[in-house]
Amino acid sequence: MHNTHMTSRSKPDDMPARRPEPVADALGRPLHDLRISLLDQCNFRCPYCMPEAEFHSDYEFLKRQQRLTYDEIVRVAAGASALGVSKLRLTGGEPLLDKNICELIERIAVLPGVKDLALTTNGMLLSPLAEKLVVAGLDRVTVSLDSIDKDIFRGMSGGRGNVDQVLAGIKAAGAAGLGPIKINVVVQKGVNDHTILDLLEYFRGTGTIVRMIEFMDVGNRNGWRMDQVVSSRSSLQQIQKRWPLRPIGRSYPGEVARRYEYVDGGGEIGFISSVTEPFCGDCSRARLSADGMLYTCLFANQGTDLREPLRGGADDDELRDILSSTWLQRADRYSELRRPDIAEHHVLKKVEMYRIGG
Ligand code: SAM
Ligand code: SF4
Ligand code: SF4
Repeated sequence: MHNTHMTSRSKPDDMPARRPEPVADALGRPLHDLRISLLDQCNFRCPYCMPEAEFHSDYEFLKRQQRLTYDEIVRVAAGASALGVSKLRLTGGEPLLDKNICELIERIAVLPGVKDLALTTNGMLLSPLAEKLVVAGLDRVTVSLDSIDKDIFRGMSGGRGNVDQVLAGIKAAGAAGLGPIKINVVVQKGVNDHTILDLLEYFRGTGTIVRMIEFMDVGNRNGWRMDQVVSSRSSLQQIQKRWPLRPIGRSYPGEVARRYEYVDGGGEIGFISSVTEPFCGDCSRARLSADGMLYTCLFANQGTDLREPLRGGADDDELRDILSSTWLQRADRYSELRRPDIAEHHVLKKVEMYRIGG
């Protein structure tokens, strides 16, 4: 916990401290993390996630009644924490488009077993909200920012983002105590790879951790091609020429980023190499979509519907049984099996990133 503020994270004394009943999947991996997508809508149209041509003004997003209510989300979060989930992340779409998000944060932050509550955002709406998020009980934010070049950033947000506004959001989040802040950079060949060093220079020495993410073949709508992927190895080489780096260990088991630090003391950088160096062996994450589907892999082509039992009267024990049996059967390791050279591999119908939030 990094907050210095008094937050609603202090759990009431009368809340029973139920011992979690950890579950392991078919490959022996525990369930530690849950990512909750609050809504499928977004104020950006990043071409690698929600290309404008597909997600145009007539596109039908989920209707209010199709999305889980806060009561339903809290029940799933509580069930997951009873099975060993201690890290939760709110995401989207763009989670800060949800006007009542602080109310949900207050309710999740006090669940027994929840040790780390984070949020992933594109940062456009962050600045005026940062303080309120901390007071509600949020621990950390990750902000996605692909370039600090105004025009390139704008292009990568589908013509909707303003880099100064996002940078102001990052500053406000740091001042409010939501650090250490992580910055996600999706690196795409010929699009923003030539602006990485400027971005790193901006954040060096600030305590903010930049993470280079390989462009992934999530979903079926972003026109992914292997030749647009910049491997972590090549980003690392590019950075090393300017600032020597050395590897540092993981901060927790199952961490997806390979961590490095600047030899000169400028801080930490991470590399998330899902395409060229898969890390399925440690993957301990489940993902809940806004309409209540539980996915056990970012590249899943099917999920488990939780909304139907939630609305059909399932009690907490039944809900926990569904969660645990879903996890027990899990054998996903898409990235390890990925064959970019085989066309059929891309025909698989996969869940879209904006539905499950990365
Ligand atoms: N809208 C929020 C945001 O952008 O931070 C949260 C949802 S977004 C789907 C979560 C993360 O997924 C972002 O950091 C985004 O850059 C990343 N992402 C989306 N599509 C991706 C892709 N094809 N490859 C790699 N990362 C991707
Ligand atoms: Fe929106 Fe985030 Fe997807 Fe960009 S990456 S379109 S900000 S959900
Ligand atoms: Fe986890 Fe699936 Fe990614 Fe492998 S491909 S690390 S199982 S989400």
